[in-house]
Amino acid sequence: MEIQKIGIVGAGQMGNGIAHVCALAGYDVVMTDISQQALDAAMALIDKNMTRQVAREKITSKDKDLAFGRIRTTTTLSDLGPSDLIIEAATERETVKIAIFEDLLPHLLPHTILTSNTSSISITRLASRTDRPEKFMGFHFMNPVPVMQLVELIRGIATDEATYNACLSVVDRLGKTAASAEDFPGFIVNRILMPMINEAVYTLYEGVGSVKSIDESLRLGANHPMGPLELADFIGLDTCLAIMNVLHDGLADTKYRPCPLLTKYVEAGWLGRKTQRGFYDYRGETPVPTR
Ligand code: NAD
Repeated sequence: MEIQKIGIVGAGQMGNGIAHVCALAGYDVVMTDISQQALDAAMALIDKNMTRQVAREKITSKDKDLAFGRIRTTTTLSDLGPSDLIIEAATERETVKIAIFEDLLPHLLPHTILTSNTSSISITRLASRTDRPEKFMGFHFMNPVPVMQLVELIRGIATDEATYNACLSVVDRLGKTAASAEDFPGFIVNRILMPMINEAVYTLYEGVGSVKSIDESLRLGANHPMGPLELADFIGLDTCLAIMNVLHDGLADTKYRPCPLLTKYVEAGWLGRKTQRGFYDYRGETPVPTR
């Protein structure tokens, strides 16, 4: 089936990026949030990010104007009813996501595909709470959405082939690359990335290296563009801890035990860049390691 109208739930960090790339690819986008302020901030950010793309000659100003004109915002969830595809990118809480799908269902067309951008919640469990588990999938973008090339497509146990193929064609049209993942905790990227970050925190905790030497080792010794602690600060230490807990609970293996030092940083409210302090202190001109 041909997808043209995309409804996005949640206008936060991820929702605004998803709206940005969908509109640039020519889709008609309706984005909703419970907060008008979040919608206004998202549109301002999309404007700023597209302006930067024009300045870097990645898109023309005509592309920007056309794309910007394709995005509509609303605080009324039912306005997403006529969508061919819903991408839910609201707060990472299962009760929030289930309530959104329950409220949306009566307004949807029979063919509408439902997807979630969740980083960790079971797709099969979310799908089972809807009237169309065969038309339900995980559509997992990476942050920042306009920059990152990958989208993980996650099938729930009931997802049918037509739904998978329809989502795959959207990923193609966005100019991104899809990786197919099964519905197990952390999917692929976080299943591999988070234990590495957690291990870097253990390496720091046990005094094997400092923040600087650990990040430098992986940057220069393994050719990673960012050190693991720098990356953890970028993702958010609360998010890293939450994903480790999902892996630990969902796979019941002690190798996923979150490092106590990661827990301590989160307890301190040192969540990384978003709070200006994490493994680095970002309050000055240049980031300074905190250990
Ligand atoms: P965020 O906190 O920046 O944004 C969430 C938005 O959802 C907020 O604007 C909030 O007002 C809105 N919201 C909450 N309840 C709502 C409701 N009932 N209806 C409509 N909107 C509602 O969060 P985010 O970082 O954008 O994450 C969104 C989703 O994307 C989560 O599921 C997260 O796991 C996933 N994700 C995040 C990242 C990342 O790096 N941040 C990466 C991949 C996936």
